Amino acid sequence: IVQAISQNSRCQPKVAQDLRKSFIDSLEEDIRDFLINEAELHTYDDLTKVNPVTPSTVLKCLQARYSAKVFYTHAGCTLVALNPFQPIPDLYSLDVMREYHSAPQPQEFKPHIFIVAEEAYRNVQGQVEPMNQSLVYSGESGAGKTWTSRCLMKYYATVAASSQKCQDTVEKIERRVLGSNPIMEAFGNACTLRNSNSSRFGKYIQLQLNGSQLLVGASVQTFLLEKTRVAFQAPNERNFHIFYQMMKGATGKQRLEWMLPLDQDFAWLPHAEKTLEGKYCTSRMCLLKHEKRNLRRHLACVDYCSLSLFMLCAGFLQKTADLLQVPLDELQSCLTVRTLRAGKQNVLKLCSQSECSVRRDCLAKVIYAQLFDWLVTFINNSMCADRSMWCNFIGLLDVYGFECFLLNNLEQLCINYANEKLQQHFVAHYLKAQQEEYVTEGLQWSFIRYQDNQGCLDLIEGSPSSIFSLLNEECRLNRASDAKQFCVRLQKELSHNASISWDKFSKQPHFTVAHYADKVSYQIEGMMEKNKDPVPPELISLLQNSQDSLLHSLFADGDHESEGLRGHSKVVTVISKFRNSLESLMKILHSTTPHYTRCIKPNPDCRPLTFKREEVITQLEACGIVETINISAAGFPIRIPYGNFLQRYGLITNTRLTVQMNQSNSPEMSNQAVLGSAVEDVLNVVLKRRASNSTLSPDDNNNMV
Ligand code: ATP
Ligand code: MG
Repeated sequence: IVQAISQNSRCQPKVAQDLRKSFIDSLEEDIRDFLINEAELHTYDDLTKVNPVTPSTVLKCLQARYSAKVFYTHAGCTLVALNPFQPIPDLYSLDVMREYHSAPQPQEFKPHIFIVAEEAYRNVQGQVEPMNQSLVYSGESGAGKTWTSRCLMKYYATVAASSQKCQDTVEKIERRVLGSNPIMEAFGNACTLRNSNSSRFGKYIQLQLNGSQLLVGASVQTFLLEKTRVAFQAPNERNFHIFYQMMKGATGKQRLEWMLPLDQDFAWLPHAEKTLEGKYCTSRMCLLKHEKRNLRRHLACVDYCSLSLFMLCAGFLQKTADLLQVPLDELQSCLTVRTLRAGKQNVLKLCSQSECSVRRDCLAKVIYAQLFDWLVTFINNSMCADRSMWCNFIGLLDVYGFECFLLNNLEQLCINYANEKLQQHFVAHYLKAQQEEYVTEGLQWSFIRYQDNQGCLDLIEGSPSSIFSLLNEECRLNRASDAKQFCVRLQKELSHNASISWDKFSKQPHFTVAHYADKVSYQIEGMMEKNKDPVPPELISLLQNSQDSLLHSLFADGDHESEGLRGHSKVVTVISKFRNSLESLMKILHSTTPHYTRCIKPNPDCRPLTFKREEVITQLEACGIVETINISAAGFPIRIPYGNFLQRYGLITNTRLTVQMNQSNSPEMSNQAVLGSAVEDVLNVVLKRRASNSTLSPDDNNNMV
């Protein structure tokens, strides 16, 4: 660098100047690293104690702790959880849970997910701020979100079930709540390249607590199941676990009933040789016998769809028709003949081979998706408490992590959009609100810059023009969509937004979005069709006429929209549905006190106790950990709503007056008096703000001291 500086200093002074600057920066970084006491790094329980806070010092600290087998570290207002990728004995035992739960100050214990859990539990209790709570964990695929969710559920099922009086009912509900996990994972998780138990749906579970803080029920809300996986798996990935569990766990009698062949491989069930199955889980839920049987039969049928077409002579279509309990000829015609409207008449048209395959896939996907929704409703009915029984809830949010593959399409766009929304919630809650509050309060504060992802969200969902609005418009036009044309349209309407770009050399129509976590290129081919997600009306009416009671009920209510049943002007697209469910989730999140945990995947191969620096630093940067630590370290650690503050500490100011009068001759002030004067100062600020803002009320939770 020194040589380059001297070479450029005369002819290109600007270049030399830049080089000099970067040289000094890198020197500074080196010196900082040098000053850090390496031997002590693993002892820092909170990253705010690392001095100075830079990406490299934070990384060093986390690596030192990981080597010392310490997996949790506070990062100011958040917790960082490093995945050990191996069971850690005694880290999550019942004794440890009880220890954290019974401690007067759990924060003084070693960092743990149980500290966050306990804080939320005590907040619900409402000593300082009675409010519903949300525990949000984010991180990429395989980082440990679902693991954390399970741990927290076990924690609450343990600590919130300690009452002797209600032991019977509570035990039952705990068992149901915990029992819902394996069954939902069986139906919604699959082995992917990044995680052998990857969640292919989002989940927000609300644990309902009564006035005595006991767990009395739970409800679960799910988001965007990746149903395309039923009919298509990327190379080296698998279908949903449940299919393999059925194939492996079925008894001889069940095999006969579901017509499962012993020697036949199903095209849709690749890599069955991998042994990840675990227990066969429909038995864990209190499903009625006939419901279990029906459920499994439909799954067998979905399996059969993979073999049925063009194999009529081998009898596979017959088996599918038998399992679905529909007439064979109707099934055959639904899969192979299209009904078109020509004026007032219906015209029948034979489908091409590829159209037939699309219909077959569609049949399997629509059955699976409806079954999944039915299962979620069933689980909710079995564990949700009556509204009069519970007062507050603790919500656990486990959504799929940010995704960036070689080929990305609508699924990744939706998943990454959900992650953008959560990141925005985090930024708004901690970074933005906190700093704005300091400015309003007139506190001395030097503003810390953070990455605001509003621009990216405007690009995806904003109005009047955004990726979502243009995609939806295209789907409503009822015309064959052309990827290239759509790409040109995107360029014309959205290129003013800095978060979108196009690679000039790419031959495929695509667009690249600069997400907060990384840049992702989305291919446009197939995106419009996926957004429409059309279901041929013939298939719906076929399933509506099934003799099977469960299948009939899944489609009978007419709730399910098909191509023919809905007018094209009001097509409910995948994007609109997803956006609506996400909006309602965000509303719930905004009404609760959030607690964030950042799950980090220390290496891409899921290898035990292996820490890859490049992997970790990218994840730390993506979630803005350094900014979070800086703001937490510089900011005020406790926030209490004005109303609660007045209620709790108002008394002390009165006491202070007495103390002052009594001690008028004494030079010493008692501790209480000192506290009283501090409270008075704060009260003055509160009163001043009240005077300047007549809408402010003491019970307004948004106004914090
Ligand atoms: P996805 O987004 O793909 O659903 P995820 O973040 O939910 O990923 P998990 O399934 O929770 O990832 O974790 C992946 C694997 O890592 C787990 O199956 C488990 O083997 C391991 N793991 C995660 N957290 C821990 C932990 N605290 N202790 C031991 N092993 C863990
Ligand atoms: Mg998961």
